[in-house]
Formats: sequence, structure tokens, C-alpha cells
Amino acid sequence: MRVRLLDATENPEELICRGARNDYMSEWVGDQPFDDVMASVEGDTLDDQMANLIAQLLTRGHYGPFEHPSATFAIEGASRSCMAQLTRHRHASFDVQSMRYVAFDDVDPADVEDGEMVVTPPSATDPDWVGRNQDVGDVDEETIEQREAVFQRSVRQSVEDYQELLDLGMPPEDARFVLPIGTEVNIVVTLNPRSLMHIADMRAAADAQWEIRDLTEQLLDIAAEWCPHTFEYYESEMKHRKNRLAP
Ligand SMILES: Cc1cc2nc3c(=O)[nH]c(=O)nc-3n(C[C@H](O)[C@H](O)[C@H](O)COP(=O)(O)OP(=O)(O)OC[C@H]3O[C@@H](n4cnc5c(N)ncnc54)[C@H](O)[C@@H]3O)c2cc1C
Repeated sequence: MRVRLLDATENPEELICRGARNDYMSEWVGDQPFDDVMASVEGDTLDDQMANLIAQLLTRGHYGPFEHPSATFAIEGASRSCMAQLTRHRHASFDVQSMRYVAFDDVDPADVEDGEMVVTPPSATDPDWVGRNQDVGDVDEETIEQREAVFQRSVRQSVEDYQELLDLGMPPEDARFVLPIGTEVNIVVTLNPRSLMHIADMRAAADAQWEIRDLTEQLLDIAAEWCPHTFEYYESEMKHRKNRLAP
């Protein structure tokens, strides 16, 4: 799976700070220079002041200002299973590749065995794979080879059947019913920092599935460059905490 930043609010942390300072100023933030808006916040430089204010907001649970900026990500090759988990989060906006209008009629079923079109879970191929909650399966090489063979046989058969149904004139929106839940999909998602932190609370945790954990970690890596003070504080002080943003 690949994740790229498509677009994002410029100077997101200035926006967060302006929003937050609005609550405690008699002047109107709409016509104040940013230095003046931040004048009463401790710190030697404007960057220190922003870091301090953001840390204070997150410590106090004052999360509203983190809803003002937004970032749009393009996700390539998530499974439909992972998509179902991600789209349960209601404070995000989505575009999902259509299986009505995109038909996988040119995919060679032999390539499906090499990881094309259907996501292969690591538990199908890796005897050392550590699963949810750090569960280590006692899996020998022979069992893994069997798992991989069954998995590949099943997805290849599904894709062959799907393509045969297309050849028989079945519309893609109906032929897709035989495809596995691991079928890949491309997604565009727009999130604000608050909703990303909440998703990370739930989906970067040990009890979340490996694929959405991987996706969430990739989103967090990008967010750390986009909103550095916010996600540095989140990673160091908040991730995996007991009291989550939206219990
Ligand atoms: C490990 C794991 C296993 C899961 N297993 C299952 C499962 O087996 N079956 C299943 O159906 N789901 C499952 N889920 C999904 C989970 O129950 C949530 O639906 C999903 O994670 C969305 O998160 P959320 O409820 O925080 O809502 P979000 O949409 O992310 O909303 C964020 C917050 O906004 C508030 N909020 C949003 N909408 C409402 C509302 N209508 N009313 C009140 N408050 C609201 C809540 O405080 C919520 O936490 C699982 C999730 C995880 C992480």
C-alpha cells in the first residue's frame, strides 16, 4: 500500500494557534499580525510559542482548534477490508475507486498470485509473522506453504470467475460480487488533525489489524511533516494513552 499527500492547508499550526488564541483575546484575530496573536504565549521564538501553545491545548483536551486545517491523502492498494475499517470514521471525507466503472478485465489471473489486485496478508506467507496483540502463531514451514497455496488458489479462481462473468456480459457492478474482500482499492481521504489523532488512537493500537495499522502509521509519518509540533507531541505524549480523544 502506498500513501501520498495530495493537498493540505498551508501553515496549519498557525491556523490552529489563531483559532485557539481567538478564545482568549479581546482583539479580533482577523486583523492581528500572528506575532501579536501569540504575544502572551511563553517561548523565545514564534516557533517555540507555537509548540508550547499546541502542547497546552493537547494536554488540556482543548481539541477544537485541531479541526481547522485539513489534509487530503491518496491511498493506493488498500484492501476492501481495510477500506471498510477506515470508512467507519465519520469525521473524514472519502472518494473510493468504483468497481462499477473500473473493471479488472485486463488483469492476468497469474499475476494475482504475485500480489496483483488482491492484498496478501503476511500470515499467508510469513512463518514469523506476529499478529494482533503480539500473538505469535506456532506455524511451521509446511503449514505456511499450504496456507499460501490455498490463498493463491482461491484468489486466482475468484478473478478467473469474475472475468468469465464479464465475458458473459455481466455488468462489473454485479460480477464483482465474486471477488474477495482483499481486492485492492484506491482511496482519497480528507482529514483534520483531530480526526487523524482519533483514528490513530484506534487504528495504530495493538488490537487493530496489521493493514490499517500500516496505513495509519503512514498517515502519521506524513502528518508529522505537515503539522510537526502537533504530531511530535501526539507521538511522544498521547499515542497509546488510556484516555483517548473521543472515548
Ligand atoms: C480493534 C477494533 C475492532 C473493531 N471491531 C468492530 C466490529 O467487530 N464490528 C463493528 O461494527 N465495528 C468494529 N470496530 C469499529 C468501531 O466500533 C468504530 O465504529 C470505528 O472504529 C469508528 O470509530 P468511532 O466510533 O470512534 O467513530 P468516529 O466516526 O471515528 O467518530 C469519532 C468520535 O465522534 C463521536 N461520534 C461520532 N458519531 C457519533 C454518534 N453518532 N453519536 C455519538 N458520538 C459520535 C464519538 O465520540 C466517536 O468516538 C472496531 C474498531 C477497532 C479499532
